[in-house]
Amino acid sequence: MPDSQKYVYSFGGGKAEGKADMKALLGGKGANLAEMSVIGIPVPPGFTITTEVCADYYASGKTLPESVRPQVEAAIRQMEAEFGSKLGDPANPLLVSVRSGAAMSMPGMMNTILNLGLSDVAVEGLARKTGNPRFAYDGYRRLIDMFGSVVMGVEHEAFEHQLESLKTQRNVKLDTELGGDDLKELVQRYKAVYKAHVKADFPQDPVEQMWAAVMAVFNSWEGKKAIEYRRIERITGLKGTAVNVQAMVFGNMGENSGTGVAFTRDPNTGEDVFYGDYLINAQGEDVVAGIRTPEPISRLQQDMPKVYDELMAIRQKLESHYKEMQDIEFTVQEGTLYMLQTRTGKRTGTSAVRIAVEMVKAKMIDKDTAIKRVAPESLNHLFMKQIEPKARSANRVVATGISASPGAAVGRVVLTAEAAVEQAAADPTTPLMLVRKETSPEDVAGMHLAVGILTSTGGKASHAAVVARGWGKPCVVGCEDVRINDAAGTITVRGQVVKAGEFLTIDGTTGEVWAVPLPTTDPVIPEEYFELMEWADKVRTLKVRTNADAPKDARKAREFGAEGIGLCRTEHMFFGEDRILPMRKMILADGGDEPASEKDLPAAEKDRKRHERATAARKAALGVLEPFQKADFVGIFEAMDGLPVTIRLLDPPLHEFLPHDEKGQAEVARSLGVPVEKVKHRVEELHEFNPMLGFRGCRLPIVFPEIGDMQVRAIIEAAVEVKQMGKSVLPEIMIPLVGTVEELVLLKKRTIAVAEEVMAMAGTSVEYLIGTMIEVPRAALVADQIAKEAQFFSFGTNDLTQLTFGYSRDDIKGFLPTYLKEKILAVDPFQSLDVNGVGQLIEMGVQKGRSARQASAGEHLKVGICGEHGGDPDSVAFCHKVGMDYVSCSPFRVPIARLAAAQAALADGQTTARDR
Ligand code: ADP
Ligand code: MG
Ligand code: MG
Repeated sequence: MPDSQKYVYSFGGGKAEGKADMKALLGGKGANLAEMSVIGIPVPPGFTITTEVCADYYASGKTLPESVRPQVEAAIRQMEAEFGSKLGDPANPLLVSVRSGAAMSMPGMMNTILNLGLSDVAVEGLARKTGNPRFAYDGYRRLIDMFGSVVMGVEHEAFEHQLESLKTQRNVKLDTELGGDDLKELVQRYKAVYKAHVKADFPQDPVEQMWAAVMAVFNSWEGKKAIEYRRIERITGLKGTAVNVQAMVFGNMGENSGTGVAFTRDPNTGEDVFYGDYLINAQGEDVVAGIRTPEPISRLQQDMPKVYDELMAIRQKLESHYKEMQDIEFTVQEGTLYMLQTRTGKRTGTSAVRIAVEMVKAKMIDKDTAIKRVAPESLNHLFMKQIEPKARSANRVVATGISASPGAAVGRVVLTAEAAVEQAAADPTTPLMLVRKETSPEDVAGMHLAVGILTSTGGKASHAAVVARGWGKPCVVGCEDVRINDAAGTITVRGQVVKAGEFLTIDGTTGEVWAVPLPTTDPVIPEEYFELMEWADKVRTLKVRTNADAPKDARKAREFGAEGIGLCRTEHMFFGEDRILPMRKMILADGGDEPASEKDLPAAEKDRKRHERATAARKAALGVLEPFQKADFVGIFEAMDGLPVTIRLLDPPLHEFLPHDEKGQAEVARSLGVPVEKVKHRVEELHEFNPMLGFRGCRLPIVFPEIGDMQVRAIIEAAVEVKQMGKSVLPEIMIPLVGTVEELVLLKKRTIAVAEEVMAMAGTSVEYLIGTMIEVPRAALVADQIAKEAQFFSFGTNDLTQLTFGYSRDDIKGFLPTYLKEKILAVDPFQSLDVNGVGQLIEMGVQKGRSARQASAGEHLKVGICGEHGGDPDSVAFCHKVGMDYVSCSPFRVPIARLAAAQAALADGQTTARDR
């Protein structure tokens, strides 16, 4: 790097070297501090050291580029001039904060150090200048604590212990009851703690302090907490963190000072109201850390009306400038308001939708922007469970806290994040409710696994609240009636004891808590959702279908906007109570005992006879199954009236339908009237070493044609019947696991023959398509040959991913975590499509298939995807890019896919929702 590079950007005093769109270089915090300065919002002066310095620091084995130091020195001079005080000046010392800030916000992940610049000399100067020794010494002891723990790794508890023992000696309860002399004494004790742990005196040179803090911020970028957060949030591709050094302002200088955090609109509901918390006479961290439970922002109007008005004006100014909901931090020092941070506010899905739509109506943004603003995944939140109203009124609320992230959650109490991780590993199905005094970045893994989070302290901007909201997880904070007894493994709520493992219900929308599990119901969907989705549907070109096997799911998916069924799995239909028995009969069918009359026949003839008998037995069993199968299809076709339904023929290996334990086998033998040995023998016979690569998919009806025949007959008969009801049916028969065109040729011929026969018998006809899944890599390779025989392709990306990587999806647990940790894989390829590898097969399959179909049949080959990926926004974007006709996903993901498809269409600039 050339040494002339600019590494440091100053801000403050109505001007700045950076601006809002320089987040990659200055981090979000730095870029926005600069922007606020420029637009005339009061910001304490300071400077930002760029993310490139962080990248360089790690690239060069933890050393800084040479010209950083002189640039920082110049920026310090400028900040001093702007603020009218000097670092280390005994009469008028400048204090600074050192704050981290990457391009994307990572709440609480990085360490901020306040009050840097205090020393034995400076503290005296500050005491004299402010006439407030208590304030000065309080700041100094906080600095020694923060610097000691964050920069030098001293246990925070060691300092805390001194504080407690001093309070005991002075016979007081609250920190605020300690006077100036007490705090002066505390500083001595803190310095002793520091020296004992660090083996050196607390540094007295403010510039030395500042540099140590800057390095600590850089080091925290590769800290465990930060890495974990980036992994969970799938944050990749950032250079590093920037560091902001900024003149300190004080919210703890008395009753006309304070500090707060707020959102320009309600991040839970999206309502256009000012929303937040503040504390009188406190320093920034106090609100966020949840040490004291803060006041709602509306009270500021009474406490400091002038400041409140100013803040409301800034709220307005920020929103109209950024045209986006902002999350802000402010501090009032003796009646003067300073803004310390602004960023795009995190919000729930419900809130995101409402804000986007209302901003369009207020002509702040256009419809395209509104569509792009809402994270598809966050739509989940709109469909979150609510507590069943009757149960709500019938049960006593045991405590009420602050509603931090909406939705109802019912789970078993767990008191630490580690316990949540352990319990989830042992039993992933039990819902867990994490109950803590407060949460910290160390807890994120456990928080992620919990269904809900409850904390006894903290406000709407506490760590727990921010993180839970980001994930759309129900959360209640500041619930002071909840007392946690870690040692006993219990919590006490107004005298009632709840043990770890017992149920709690929380409502994150109202802040209420119940000490019993309550039933939940579906939510009411806000009007704005339908408006936004209408705009999205106008711009997307990709259709969205659903994967559904039952009429109920099909109807649900239609409500969510599904435009057809992309995958109807028929095997699920065989597990019903009345079906599994004939299914097992079908599977167990063999030639039976040899009749006496055949005893003397030649061996070949015997085999033929036996085969005939087995086929007849299979057909008889299939004959019992057929009406069930047909009835299922009738239900689905009715539900999907007018929309296409892709039905996949039986796919899994047959042994999945047989019991593998002795008890189950005995039961089957009894109900079928055959000896248990026979069942056992057949199960053993069907055992496979690699079931995934075994006797399944199209291989089944090729060997046992009567199975496929039965299914096709049921499909076409159902279609005829539903058509005769006056409905429109569009069946698409899908043949799974095809790897060679010959397989398809054979099965297609049979399918047509059966279909023709059914239609001839019925004296009517229905239109239907025959196509295949592309899920074996070979099928993608010979897609041109296959397309000549297929009317549609559906990419079965679950199997295609398994077979391309050679990973069994069910056996990936052992190595996937390591692969992700070692960055061998960026994401789980079963969740988000591997665009670089599997994606190539798909892209090639689409291209070859389309052109071959066009050339041979003169028609457009319909192409879709039906793996789990069909509901993953990144994968949807890829499907759009390669020109698929549709994606198919589970019913609840249909809205997500619709929005993701709209965003993909907007991204390639082909369409717009803008009114022309
Ligand atoms: P985070 O990213 O964790 O919010 P911040 O850098 O924003 O960390 O700082 C933590 C707290 O310290 C915030 O409440 C912030 O307002 C406060 N703070 C940071 N710098 C200053 C400053 N120069 N003067 C007063 N308070 C500050
Ligand atoms: Mg902050
Ligand atoms: Mg498959």
